[in-house]
Amino acid sequence: MKIAVIGTGYVGLVSGACFSEFGFDVVCLDQDAEKIARLRAGEIPIYEPELDTLVKRNAERGRLSFTTNLPEAMAGATAVFIAVGTPSRRGDGHADLSYVYAAAETIAHEIKEYTVVVTKSTVPVGTGRKVAEIIRQTNPKAEFDVASNPEFLREGSAIGDFMRPDRVVIGCDTDAARAMMRQLYRPLFLIETPILFTSLETAELIKYASNAFLALKISFINQISDLCDQLGANVTDVSRGIGLDGRIGPKFLHPGPGYGGSCFPKDTLALMKTARDAHSPLSLVEATVDYNDTRKVQMADRISTALNGNVAGKNVAILGLTFKPNTDDMRDAPSLVIIPELVKRGARIRAHDPVGIDEAKKHMPDITYCADPYEAMQGADALVILTEWNSYRALALDRVKTLLKTPTVVDLRNVYRPDEMAELGFDYTSLGRPKVHPDPGKPHLMAEGGRRLT
Ligand code: NAD
Repeated sequence: MKIAVIGTGYVGLVSGACFSEFGFDVVCLDQDAEKIARLRAGEIPIYEPELDTLVKRNAERGRLSFTTNLPEAMAGATAVFIAVGTPSRRGDGHADLSYVYAAAETIAHEIKEYTVVVTKSTVPVGTGRKVAEIIRQTNPKAEFDVASNPEFLREGSAIGDFMRPDRVVIGCDTDAARAMMRQLYRPLFLIETPILFTSLETAELIKYASNAFLALKISFINQISDLCDQLGANVTDVSRGIGLDGRIGPKFLHPGPGYGGSCFPKDTLALMKTARDAHSPLSLVEATVDYNDTRKVQMADRISTALNGNVAGKNVAILGLTFKPNTDDMRDAPSLVIIPELVKRGARIRAHDPVGIDEAKKHMPDITYCADPYEAMQGADALVILTEWNSYRALALDRVKTLLKTPTVVDLRNVYRPDEMAELGFDYTSLGRPKVHPDPGKPHLMAEGGRRLT
């Protein structure tokens, strides 16, 4: 069976590579000729762990190829996945569906036999029906069904998420479409993945409801962490204490600088718009969006407070720019609000990220980028940990201390322990955990790697 994937971004490329790993013939198409040329040359245009190996293996086996030519991609394909972007539309926050509709129209011309057209892009309720209407109008002779198969993969662990998902959601109306979708996901039957068949509308809503719920959960623990700061409680213990309740679960209960990324911000806005249009507003989601926006600015306040209330003229080292570790995706990263806010207040920024610097430069060309985290800290008045990359989890703290002008650390991911940092002589601020003050009379001797000697 041959699959065509329209749109070879984070989702299209990962889905295409994984379907080819399942054993299907896959052609990934994109309108971006440069991206396709790089893929053909064996270069992966995004950073995603394990993706290069998967693409290389399946391309070599002849099961995965890349093109800009639609007739070539669709020749003999009986399943076509639409995986183009659905960014926020300027002005009203609704999803911009122009890429999806343009893809539907071009696909329509190339449907020669019964084909299932699958929307993998995150699309508002009603889009699947509209895609069917566009195809029908463009090519009245086309034999096809439309299915909705929203994607739940997380950047940074996308391959594992696709190959071992918690569930697969498929919305469709006909037995023929259901049979084809079942065949595509048959490899997951072995690992007993729940496959949920629903209507088109329900599948579309499941995706938005999932993302909105996760955004809400993150915002909830962020607010609880603020409350911990006021009450002297410890958010790590609160998270564990509530997360052990099976009805709540331990995931997404880590406080941070506010959610970002290519999905939650735009998907919460789009769901709010859908709900308002349907006269059934989602006040909880609206409150979440408002709070998350203010949280990022509050993080700049926290950094400022750690620097005695004024960042003007201060050098601030920032570790981590991407919205989360293991991706180079900068879309709606909290750093894009926090850093400009610090700059506006007069701070000088020296930033490091393991893979995100090229992308970050496009958004923030005027800050200083460093190739090494320790270079960023040289002479800085404070160190801020913004994204919890593994390489920041075991910094040589003795070296950090000698490099910083003042030993001030603001950890917006709670990577380090307040008591240990205080013992090492740092003025350490984290989220929702009681501050421990360094003992000024105590010598702070450390071995390499930050281990204390006495
Ligand atoms: P992306 O921007 O990385 O990729 C989209 C690709 O589509 C681009 O390469 C673009 O050139 C191409 N494209 C646009 N119109 C086209 C057309 N008419 N023909 C051919 N190619 C076209 O986007 P993404 O992050 O992969 O997201 C795609 C969809 O999946 C979105 O709806 C998103 O919400 C959803 N999604 C994303 C993630 C994620 O983690 N990135 C997770 C789940 C769902």
